[in-house]
Amino acid sequence: MIPAYIVAIGDELLYGQTLNTNAYSLSKMLTDVGFKVIKHISIADERQAILDTFEEMSKVAKIVLITGGLGPTKDDITKKTFAEYFNVGMRRDEVVLKHIENLFSSRGRMMTDLNKSQADVPTNCTVIHNMYGTAPGMWFEKNGCIFVSMPGVPYETENIMSNEVIPRLLDFFKPPFIVHKKVQTIGVPESILAQTIEDWENDLPSHVRLAYLPHLGKVTLRLTSEGDDKEKIDEELNNQVKKVIPLIEKYVYGFDDETIEGKVADLLKEKNLTLGIAESCTGGYVARTFTQHEGASAFFEGGIIAYSNDVKIKILGVKLDTIIKYGSVSEQTALEMAEGIRRTLGTKIGIATTGVAGTGGGTPEKPVGTVWIAYSDENETVAKTYQLTKNRNLNIQLSTNAVLNLLRKKLIEK
Ligand code: AMP
Ligand code: MG
Repeated sequence: MIPAYIVAIGDELLYGQTLNTNAYSLSKMLTDVGFKVIKHISIADERQAILDTFEEMSKVAKIVLITGGLGPTKDDITKKTFAEYFNVGMRRDEVVLKHIENLFSSRGRMMTDLNKSQADVPTNCTVIHNMYGTAPGMWFEKNGCIFVSMPGVPYETENIMSNEVIPRLLDFFKPPFIVHKKVQTIGVPESILAQTIEDWENDLPSHVRLAYLPHLGKVTLRLTSEGDDKEKIDEELNNQVKKVIPLIEKYVYGFDDETIEGKVADLLKEKNLTLGIAESCTGGYVARTFTQHEGASAFFEGGIIAYSNDVKIKILGVKLDTIIKYGSVSEQTALEMAEGIRRTLGTKIGIATTGVAGTGGGTPEKPVGTVWIAYSDENETVAKTYQLTKNRNLNIQLSTNAVLNLLRKKLIEK
């Protein structure tokens, strides 16, 4: 096992102003290629805190990835603290200087001495090219432990990692292959899932690890194994996946990084069907979930955010009587919304959401989290209800996944 530590430097992280997304993305990249991430550490732009952390890391780590504190201004001190830690001076790197000059001239901007100082690096580092920015990455080695310093800006760091750092780390450490296989499920709580596959889980060989990762009404089953023969591990995990699928088939919507909306999109395209979406409580989230992916135009005709009763009635043709008698959050309204969107847009399929997202707006009969979703095609219109949470954002996402799952099930039946 090659232990890796990720250190994020920056006052903004500790003030709670910036989310430490670098820890997340660097962890994923390291894990994907077989390194073991042990700890995430966040520290302020403070000399002593940084020095102490480097010293602590040098005793336990093989890889230390550091992000942040590489800007040209006085508040960023990572670079000079590295020089102090390794007890070396600074030198100006001519290649980096040329790169900075090119970046500035391509943007038509003047360079100051402060910008030029970004080409200064501790004398003991190997410079790592930063294609997108002015702060270079830096690679240090001390007693077999590698320190890599990268900028805080997430897309710069991710680019440096995948193009430069990962290949060098693989070359330096030659880690074992680590393989993950994921089975994506929806509409089943993890406890029920665990019960259903208990025998299979008990029979797993001890070197194959299983994790349940629940997220917004979905559960990812992740199988992990490692070794030197990637093909062999792949085959073993694929065989295990083949064994578990028949036990949970109706819940499985995909594998690895496949999404529920991607699965639904595939089914709609395969069956040559068009979709219209009427959204009340989800406020456009369902449509957004589809349209964030390229190619949605192949099946998605459009949507209407029917937030007010007026729009439900005037545009979707929900009957005023229905709303007076049953309320806007009701089975009848959801059914009429789904039929209405199908009729209004002339699509083969219509789906609808209506609910009390919260935080306010609940009543004793219809508390916050009451949601109705509906599906309509030329043969049938059906609705389902859910009692979700007290959290508005969560309710929007859970409702979206519920309606996507209803759609998935109906499309499989069709
Ligand atoms: P710096 O390299 O310290 O000048 O950081 C530049 C910018 O990158 C900061 O202003 C933050 O917006 C962002 N940033 C720094 N560290 C992180 C981090 N760990 N995760 C996400 N963004 C970060
Ligand atoms: Mg900073």
